[in-house]
This record gives sequence, structure tokens and C-alpha cells, in this order.
Amino acid sequence: MSVDAPATTPNYQALSDEAFEERCTDLWERYADCDLCAYECHVDRTAGQEGTCQVDDTASVSTYFPHFGEEDCLKGHNGSGTIFLANCNMKCVFCQNFETGHEAEGEPATPEEIAEMALELEAQGCHNINFVSPTHHSPHLVEAVKIATDRGLELPIVWNCGGYERPAILERLEGIVDIYMPDVKWSDDAAAAMYSKAPNYWSNVRESLREMHRQVGDLRIDDTGLATGGLLVRHLVMPNHVENAKRVLAFLAEELSEETVVDIMAQYQPHYKAKTEDVYADINRPITEDEYDEVIEYARDVGLERLYLDRSMLQNRGFSWF
Ligand code: SF4
Repeated sequence: MSVDAPATTPNYQALSDEAFEERCTDLWERYADCDLCAYECHVDRTAGQEGTCQVDDTASVSTYFPHFGEEDCLKGHNGSGTIFLANCNMKCVFCQNFETGHEAEGEPATPEEIAEMALELEAQGCHNINFVSPTHHSPHLVEAVKIATDRGLELPIVWNCGGYERPAILERLEGIVDIYMPDVKWSDDAAAAMYSKAPNYWSNVRESLREMHRQVGDLRIDDTGLATGGLLVRHLVMPNHVENAKRVLAFLAEELSEETVVDIMAQYQPHYKAKTEDVYADINRPITEDEYDEVIEYARDVGLERLYLDRSMLQNRGFSWF
């Protein structure tokens, strides 16, 4: 397995005060005519208007804690310092976190308070700061990183998103985010529109992945097994959508890099509307072992080897994993 020399310093420590300030100013101004994600709602969130993410310019945090359920290279021994933002810029009908993602459960938090959460997680020994569903509050988070940096933060920043980003906004994060971790959900715009209410998802996510990879490259892992920077892609295999998974994997291998680290996830369960509304009947079941096998065989066929795989689906089935 090829692994580049690890970066030892988070990106943002090399960013000047002036560059941070310019990024913060630009991003905060966007709340007034919001184009922070691919929906491009152009609502004035500073005046209380809400776009698809259903939140004004007040960020809320639903919870933060050392997370031991993330990939090995993020959780390490002490956990990934996860900060869950309330609401989401996607509207997946199968969302397993719909209480926080769709129904705005959380406490309002200023950039200063988010910075203090990050520092608290660092003091607890976490290996990174992992912003979950960050996109719709990127102004708060960039400012929080700046405040935390000034107070001594030294951990890599993880951007744990649904992939419905805008390359123009991602450019504003260059030099701030160390690890991009998009959950690439769909390679089929019709399915994305139906199940995630995200028009043109596949066009958007391909351009976003190119921009993420341009900035941070393939995932780098140090000699203690921890990720220090780069791109880590997640894909949740969906029932009756094996071809969808294959197109995602083919794109990663053929148009980004065969060194892309991919977590091919098998834990799909029909939550939220997917288990109650007949129109979503084809995703109202877990995936089968055969579906999962077909996807990971395909990943190998296209040259992807740096894979996180679901061990519970692979027991005694002769596969090895990253
Ligand atoms: S962040 Fe929210 S308001 Fe802004 S473009 Fe995206 S969905 Fe619309």
C-alpha cells in the first residue's frame, strides 16, 4: 500500500492571519445571499430566511464527543473529536440522524464556543477535529478554527460532509481543512433527486471531489496509523443500487486516483421516510451479502485497494481489508 510522507502540521497553521480574515469575511457575507452549498438558495439567512437546510445564520451543535465509531485512521486510541452540527444541507429520506439532520435539535453555538469545544476535545486526547454536516455553517467553522488556532489547536481538521458542496466554496477552505471526508451517496442524478432531494448531485459531487483531491491529495497515514491529511471517501451501499456504487468507485479509480481510500459501508437500514412511505419501497430493506460482495469485487477490479470494508459482512468470506 503506497502512503505518502505524512504531513506533521495541520494545514491551517501555515495560513496567515490576513488570509484567515479574508476567508472569514467572504464566507460570512454569503449568509446574506446564501450559496454555501450546491442548492444555491440565495436566501438572506441574516434576516431569518431559510433555504433547503432550514436554518438561518445561527449555528447549533447537537453534540460533541470523542467518537470511536469512525474509521481506524480517525478514531485511533482516543477517538475522533467529533462536533455534530444540527441540520443538514441534504434531505435524505433514509437519514439515520434525522432528529439532528432534519429537525434542528441542538444548542446555538458561536464560533468562540465551537472553538472551545475543539480545544476541549484536543485536551481529551482526540486525534482530529471532525466537523459533521459542516457545509451550511462553514462561516462559523472557519472562524472557530481561527480562534482555536490562536489558542493552540494542533489537530487536523476533518470536513465530514454529504458531498453536496460547491467547488467555489471548497476553494475558500483550502489551507484550512486537512482531511476531506465526503459521503458520496449517488452517481445517478435521478436517484439523488428522489432519495436525497439533491438535484444534479452527481455532476456536483464529481467536481467537488476533484477540488478536494486537488487541495489535499490522497490520504496520508502516519506510522502510528493516524490520518494526517488527504481525501477519505465514504460510500454507503444502497439496496437495489449496486450499479450506483460501481459508478462511484469507477470514477474514484479512473478520474481521481487508485490510491483513494474508500470506506465501503454496508450498514444501511431504512430509517425515517424510507421505512414508512411506499414510494421508497425499493430502499426499504438492508443490503444483502451478495450486493456487498459484488461492490467490493468491483472495487478491486477497478484497482482500488485502500479500502475500509464492513467486517461483519465479510466474516469467513475470504476477503482482507485495509
Ligand atoms: S447552505 Fe442552506 S440556504 Fe445555503 S445554499 Fe445550502 S441549503 Fe441553501
